[in-house]
Amino acid sequence: MERPLELPVVVRYTKRPMSPADRLAALRAALEERILVLDGAMGTAIQAVDLTAADFGGASLEGCNEHLVLTRPDVIEIIHRDYINAGADIIETDTFGGTRVVLAEYGLQDKVYEINFAAAQLARKAADAASTAKRPRFVAGSMGPGTKTISVTGGITFDEVQAAYTEQTIGLVEGGVDVLYLETQQDTLNVKAALLGIDDACARLGRSVPVVLSVSIETMGTMLAGQSIEALYVSVAHRDLLAIGMNCATGPDFMTDHLRTLHELATTRISCYPNAGLPNPLSETGFDLGPQDMARYLGDFARGGLINIAGGCCGNTPEHIAAIAKALDGQPPRKYGNERSAESYALQSEGKE
Ligand SMILES: [Zn+2]
Repeated sequence: MERPLELPVVVRYTKRPMSPADRLAALRAALEERILVLDGAMGTAIQAVDLTAADFGGASLEGCNEHLVLTRPDVIEIIHRDYINAGADIIETDTFGGTRVVLAEYGLQDKVYEINFAAAQLARKAADAASTAKRPRFVAGSMGPGTKTISVTGGITFDEVQAAYTEQTIGLVEGGVDVLYLETQQDTLNVKAALLGIDDACARLGRSVPVVLSVSIETMGTMLAGQSIEALYVSVAHRDLLAIGMNCATGPDFMTDHLRTLHELATTRISCYPNAGLPNPLSETGFDLGPQDMARYLGDFARGGLINIAGGCCGNTPEHIAAIAKALDGQPPRKYGNERSAESYALQSEGKE
C-alpha cells in the first residue's frame, strides 16, 4: 500500500510549549551552566497588595493565600510576572499551604486538587510566556511544612502527612510544575513522610518529578524539631534530590555557617533563599535587609562556590530579586558530587588543602 501523499500540516511559526521531559532536560542543563535565580516571597508580596475579604472569597477565607489562585488569579499572575521580569529563572506556585491539613482550617479540604492544579497552571502560563529557547523559565511547586508537625506540634500522624503530600503533588504535577520545592521544613520526620507522599504520587502518575528539599534552621542553630543541618542531611542522603538547602527562618548572615557545613556534606546541588534579614517592623518590607544587602550576601555565597540555586524568602521583593540576579550573573554554579571530589582530591595531592 502506498503512503498517503499529504502529510499532516506542521505548524512551524507558533511558539510551541516544551514538553515536560524537554523542560526537565533544559532545567538540568541550565543548572550545569549557571546559578539559577529563584523568585522572592509569595506571602509578603500578597500582603503588599491591598486585598479585602471579598478578594479571598469571603470573611471566613481571609488570609488563605492559596485560595486567591481561584478568586484573584490576576493578582497572583502579576506577582509571578514581576519576579520573572526581575530576573527569576524559577517561580514558585502560590501553594505553600496547599495541603489538606492547612486548607481544612478554612473548610477547603475538598479543593486540594483544584487549588494546586490552578496554581501550577497560573505559574506555568507566566513562565511559558517569558520562556525563550535560550532562557527557559521553570515552575516550582511550593510545598510548605503545614501547620501541624509530627514531632513538634503533634495532632497529626506520619500516614496523614504522607497522604496529604501525595494529594498536593498530584494537583501540582498535573497542573504542570517542573520541580517540587518541599520548603521551610522544620521536622525530619515530616520531611520523610512528605518525600514518601511525593513518591506515591509519582508512582500513581507514572512520572518522575525532581524534588528540592529546603529546611529552616532557626537562630538556635537547628530546625524547630531540634535537628541540625548535618542530622537532616544524613537522614535524607540516600534520596535522589535535585537540590538540598535552606530558606526562611533567619537572614543570610545566620545561614552562613550552616551553608558551609552543608557544602562539605552535600553530593547534590545546594539551594539557598534566606529571608531579607530578621523581622524589623520599622522597615517598609517588614525585614532588615534591602536589595543591595541581599545581593552582597548571596554574591559572597556564589563567589565562595556554595550555591546552585538562590533567591529570597520572606521580605524579598522583586527589587531584591533583581539585585540578587545581577550579583549572581556570570558566577559559576557550585561544584558537587564526583566533579568536586575529583577536584578536592587533586588539591589534596598537591598539598593545597
Ligand atoms: Zn520565609
